[in-house]
Amino acid sequence: MTDTRTHLLIVGGGPAGTQAATTAAMKGARVTLVEKDIVGGAAHLWDCIPSKTMAASALRRTSVRNAVKLGLVNDPGHVDPRNLAVRIEEITSDINRNWLELLDSQDVDMILGKGSFTGPNEAVVATEGGERVIHFDKAMISTGSAPRVPAWAPPVGDRVLTTRHCYDLEAVPEHIVIIGSGVTGVEFTHIFESMGASVSLVVSRQQILPHRDPEVAAVLEEDFIERGVRLVIGARAEAIDVGNGGVAVHCDDGRTIDGSHALLAVGSIPLTEGLGLDEAGVEADDGHVKVDEYQRTSASHIYAAGDVTGQMLLSSVASMQGRKIARHALNLPVEPLDYSKVAEAIFTEPEIASVGLGDVDAAAQGRKVRTIKVPFAANARSVLQHFTRGFVKVTTDPATGVVLGGTIVGHRASELIGVIALAVKAGLTAHTLVETLMVHPSMTEAISDAAE
Ligand SMILES: Cc1cc2nc3c(=O)[nH]c(=O)nc-3n(C[C@H](O)[C@H](O)[C@H](O)COP(=O)(O)OP(=O)(O)OC[C@H]3O[C@@H](n4cnc5c(N)ncnc54)[C@H](O)[C@@H]3O)c2cc1C
Repeated sequence: MTDTRTHLLIVGGGPAGTQAATTAAMKGARVTLVEKDIVGGAAHLWDCIPSKTMAASALRRTSVRNAVKLGLVNDPGHVDPRNLAVRIEEITSDINRNWLELLDSQDVDMILGKGSFTGPNEAVVATEGGERVIHFDKAMISTGSAPRVPAWAPPVGDRVLTTRHCYDLEAVPEHIVIIGSGVTGVEFTHIFESMGASVSLVVSRQQILPHRDPEVAAVLEEDFIERGVRLVIGARAEAIDVGNGGVAVHCDDGRTIDGSHALLAVGSIPLTEGLGLDEAGVEADDGHVKVDEYQRTSASHIYAAGDVTGQMLLSSVASMQGRKIARHALNLPVEPLDYSKVAEAIFTEPEIASVGLGDVDAAAQGRKVRTIKVPFAANARSVLQHFTRGFVKVTTDPATGVVLGGTIVGHRASELIGVIALAVKAGLTAHTLVETLMVHPSMTEAISDAAE
């Protein structure tokens, strides 16, 4: 057993952990990063990177399918999941190698193994070469989350999948029944439909994306229906039978949906089991580590960031929390993260992106706002590219004209939203957006049109 002393111990090397490690190391701190699987975390191995690699192929195939409307005669071809799996593996390995080189160049002490706390200032890491004991001044928990598998689901991996099983499939599923119509459910609906699968989407509420603006959900629902996706609205899956080379998904309203595969897209659970939270004096609520606005846990020298806290489950948020923790742990000035200004996106086609205060949330809060909506059908670039589905909504403060938020549903919405995100962060007025001369013809003109 070897003993190590460190200033900042980080358990979990996803976006939160790696960002904290590089920020703290750059400031000269002695940092130890413990990771049990792969540096880059679930974000790189199973979540953001592989799913967006698949979405890139899906988008390309959807575009080729629609190219006939642009006067091209074409054959959309087909997607070979084996080739896609190789591409995902190459991209993941590249990113992993880059991160390892960066951490190494900054003298971060990397330990491959599973970490757990044995006391308020001590942790142990089970490595292939035996146990290592780490004595730390400060620590950060960034162990992430894993897909939730409900108690009623049969064993996963063959016919019943989680997202983690989707990246090295032998063949495109003939008919996949996707359970859950949140962000993950709709992204994989887009991916699998584009790859040629028949898709049924089980929607427990009356609309897909249940907590979002109904106008946004309606655009995506219309697109899905046009593409032949079967929306099973108002049905909650409660059992799955596997047999006869397929699955039967039973819903609480008596409907049964037969398919070749089922995909569980019903949320995630925090990874805190066996982490020694009690030994460290760290409190959790339903597995999520409780934190204050500086990400400090109930043991104030131990921080937590990313999915394990159950705050906004986004890689971008996890990284920013990690960066802020590193600064706080080194007594450098830092401001708490403002969650109301985080830009986020859903990678369907059309994409959906939003930032700040939307009109639906404002109405729920009883706050008076001014919202203007401009459809992409009225935007020249969208029309000539044949990406007319969707709209831009910009919300402003009626008294000052300051931009409070925006929503974009449309092609490359995840890129376009950056303009509104900057306006929200910088407190710019709609007038500034209008006065900013955008390229013509471009989809960004729809943003200045909405601001006008
Ligand atoms: C399908 C899918 C797609 C997504 N796409 C996006 C997207 O496009 N954009 C976006 O912003 N977010 C996306 N997310 C969310 C994003 O993946 C997470 O918010 C992000 O990974 C959280 O980062 P993290 O650092 O908290 O944890 P993770 O990325 O989960 O990393 C945690 C790490 O801790 C390690 N670990 C766990 N326990 C231990 C232990 N005891 N000892 C040592 N190591 C340990 C794990 O092996 C893992 O590597 C997606 C999520 C899913 C499910």
